Amino acid sequence: MSQAKPRAPSTPHRQSQGGKDFRKRVQRDKQHTDKPAAQSVARVGSAAAKPCITLKTGREKSLQRRHPWIFSGAVDCIDGAPKSGDTVPVRDADGKFLAWAAYNADSQISARVWSWHEQDVIDKVFFRSRITSAISARRALGLLPSPAGGRGVGGEGARLIHAESDGLPGLIVDQYGDVLVMQLGSAGAEHWRETFADILQELCAPACIYERSDSDGRELEGLPKRCGVLRGTLPEKVEVIENGVHFAVDVAAGQKTGFYLDQRNNRALTGTLAQDKDVLNCFCYTGGFSLYALRGGAKSVLSIDSSQEAIQLAQANVELNGLDSSKAEWQCADVFEALRKLRDQARRFDLIVLDPPKFAPTAAFAEKASRAYKDINLLGFKLLRPGGLLFTYSCSGGISDDLFQKIIAGAALDAGVDAQIVNKLHAAADHPVLLSFPEGAYLKGLVLRVE
Ligand code: SAH
Repeated sequence: MSQAKPRAPSTPHRQSQGGKDFRKRVQRDKQHTDKPAAQSVARVGSAAAKPCITLKTGREKSLQRRHPWIFSGAVDCIDGAPKSGDTVPVRDADGKFLAWAAYNADSQISARVWSWHEQDVIDKVFFRSRITSAISARRALGLLPSPAGGRGVGGEGARLIHAESDGLPGLIVDQYGDVLVMQLGSAGAEHWRETFADILQELCAPACIYERSDSDGRELEGLPKRCGVLRGTLPEKVEVIENGVHFAVDVAAGQKTGFYLDQRNNRALTGTLAQDKDVLNCFCYTGGFSLYALRGGAKSVLSIDSSQEAIQLAQANVELNGLDSSKAEWQCADVFEALRKLRDQARRFDLIVLDPPKFAPTAAFAEKASRAYKDINLLGFKLLRPGGLLFTYSCSGGISDDLFQKIIAGAALDAGVDAQIVNKLHAAADHPVLLSFPEGAYLKGLVLRVE
């Protein structure tokens, strides 16, 4: 059996179609600058043997720390010719059991762990228990519309399942009222697609389960994109109510699963600080931060996004909430260019939000992405009035907290401003981070106050 060429892994938690152009550019540039990736070819074991992955000597350490990914470079031998998506035992070089994992022949991540316990059987009962745990944990934390996931929930939203961080690699489920949107990002999750849909239907009885398996990460996993109704009927209008703010959600054609639930608390914070301010919201999507700012009494809100569809939905959302549209200005533009124009026009703001798409899906993209983050943040600092606030975010798995803070420090220095961090932000609690899987902490935010 031949091993497919390694592909870059990604954390498929916050995919955004909006970042594609940038990413293509990075990938193109990488091809010119990087040495060819080292091919790590696992030995082919006996096809007649029971399917099993055996690791190279000493490569069991990350699994022993309960990190759920097995990279192709750690694999010594694959026995039994498993197919992508099959569950296989993973063993150390001495044959000791380490985990049950879903195999993928087409990814640099050769397998993702379902369970650390040899006695576990990976079947519908197993997944029902995992999904129930994920939903119960959110209920216990007061994060779920009540009754959890059922009908008549008043249109509130929550992430019910957060992939690796909920022990379900590759499975994301977002709830918008009585519609569930499921996104599959790994061969293992793909294999259990119908089982997941059955369990969610049984546990949550939603009006619809819609599949949005079209994230960029699927390409890296060798999976084709697939979208459509899995169970029930998609209502003509889907709406989510978040802290009392109503958002129309385009489940079928919107970005990611239709809405960015991860920014819920951070949007609320922005709203509380927007009173009488001139606000600039860059990468506004369907108006998340803009709506909270308008509700919070902002003097004016300029919102920029490159997607015309997103801006149209954002404008409709202003109407939906009965907010004063005369205070809202919209630009369908590239933020990198728009910020330069605003600088040249000497426009100034009291509060700026920068919430760009994922510039660096992995660390390999970090250098190029760093330049992009620095560029927009430098311009952001220049557009702030003294005493102004910059809410700046990165949802790039390839950019660490430390690196992000360094980039922002460099941007402030080059902009010639002194700035203080007054808050550090992250995704809402329905996007938990498993301690053994730090990649789950993809969203980082800083609130900075300029002198
Ligand atoms: N802040 C939003 C989520 C932003 S997602 C919320 O709270 O809901 C990132 C957005 O950036 C997407 O809407 C995408 O269309 C937009 N985008 C991506 N690249 C862009 C660019 N170069 N210029 C302007 N918008 C861009």
